[in-house]
Amino acid sequence: MAHKPSNLLLDSLPPNQRKALLARMEPVSLPIGTVLYRSGEQPEYAHFMTTGIASIVTFMADGAGAEVGLVGREGLVEAINLLGSASPPTTAFIRVEGTALRIRYAELQKELFTSGALFRSILQFVQCHGFILSQLAACNGLHEIEERLARWLLMVEDRVQSDKFYLTQEFLSEMLGIRRTSVSAAAGSLQKSGLIAYRRGNIQVLNRKGLEEAACECYPVVRDLAALLNQS
Ligand SMILES: [Zn+2]
Repeated sequence: MAHKPSNLLLDSLPPNQRKALLARMEPVSLPIGTVLYRSGEQPEYAHFMTTGIASIVTFMADGAGAEVGLVGREGLVEAINLLGSASPPTTAFIRVEGTALRIRYAELQKELFTSGALFRSILQFVQCHGFILSQLAACNGLHEIEERLARWLLMVEDRVQSDKFYLTQEFLSEMLGIRRTSVSAAAGSLQKSGLIAYRRGNIQVLNRKGLEEAACECYPVVRDLAALLNQS
């Protein structure tokens, strides 16, 4: 099947290796809510995102969840899983509908330790992703909700490459680890300032520059880390 992948991690591989890997992959459509792997289980497939956003979430015993990572076309959702045998405490699912190229997880894991180029690309991704998560952990503990929401919307916009996307209030509250009423207040405030339009989950960024000014200092840090993946 003809499919033009636009996954930055795959694009960073030497052409021959990319071609060989692509021959063993299949393109999949991923509606909102699709579970990519569950906590406590080894993934069945590895997903190189080509559009949309996958979210990595930690759920507590009472069902409350908080987002601990997001992956778009710059990466591989199961990258950190591949590096060892530990069972993940996280669950990954689709937050913004999209597409991916998938390959059997066990097959990719085997390939990883025999291919230097793939190993280096995945390590580079895991490093950038890990540093982004470190920044976000500090951000969630120290920064105000509104500036975190602005930072998060910019991160989504960068990954979906569109100024319009759909996110329910429930998702937003999980992403930011806050109550829904706080999401409404923060989104309402950004809307009032003319930075975004928000209606029934449909978000449009109206003033990108203003949103960057409203975001906390973490946004340029995570943007620059993600940009490293574009250059590799
Ligand atoms: Zn921050």
